[in-house]
Amino acid sequence: MRIVRLGIVLFIICMGIFFLWKFFPHASFSLEQTDTRPLIVTTIFPLYDIAKQVGGDTIRVELILPPGGSEHTFEPTPKAQRAIEDADIIFSIGHGLDNWLYNLTSDPSKILPVDSGIALKEDKEIDPHYWLTLENGALIASFMAVRIGELIPEQTEEIRLRTEAYLVLLASTDRDLKDRLSHLVQKKIVTFHDAWAYFAEAYGLEIVGTFEPTAGREPTPQYLFALKEIVVKNHLSALYAEPQFSSRGIESFIKDYDLTLAVLDPLGGGELTSSYIELITYNVETILHNQK
Ligand SMILES: [Zn+2]
Repeated sequence: MRIVRLGIVLFIICMGIFFLWKFFPHASFSLEQTDTRPLIVTTIFPLYDIAKQVGGDTIRVELILPPGGSEHTFEPTPKAQRAIEDADIIFSIGHGLDNWLYNLTSDPSKILPVDSGIALKEDKEIDPHYWLTLENGALIASFMAVRIGELIPEQTEEIRLRTEAYLVLLASTDRDLKDRLSHLVQKKIVTFHDAWAYFAEAYGLEIVGTFEPTAGREPTPQYLFALKEIVVKNHLSALYAEPQFSSRGIESFIKDYDLTLAVLDPLGGGELTSSYIELITYNVETILHNQK
């Protein structure tokens, strides 16, 4: 009896091991090994979305900077570090914006800035916020299509078709946004981050002041005085902050001058900005709703 029971127990254990071996390791193994699609890593959300639009299912795309963070500072997670190591291509903005990348990869030749063909603005330094116009977005998409196509020559036709359709959509959205903005009377804006020069030029706006407040510190009386001068002189009714910006310290100023504090978003990835096209549209609509 005892031997029979032992036999049954041994049989069950063997079956258990067989099942575990047969299904679990095999399943997870084969998933990772059969996904041979190139891994495209992108630093900011707009690049992530454009790469997905261009590459579709032919590639895997990872985003390094999580939505809600600032593009200028970044603490890499272990997951981000692994993606950067495994990447076939890393699409970046360059010009100091995502320089943190270079400390995270042993192979910097994988890093490709996407500014090819874009007329960069230069004041003292090159302004890296060039993705904030749909025309530049189209140049970024075309550049990505070529570089992704080189990784998977057998898919170039699919990538070409996807890219062409996307470029048509970018161009029609751009025309539509410019048309809606052409009726705007007050074209002057004040922003709280030096990110909007390309955007303003493309969409016919004039930046009359940029106030980058020191994080966590009360604005100085000089700061508020200069801001007041600009608001009064230009008959402004709104100021434009950003999601990362805290309005602490200027609330009473906003109230005193009967202003609206609206939010422009350079990065997106949120509910109203879940694609690159939605992001630019959101920013144009924010301007349309708040300029009086
Ligand atoms: Zn910026």
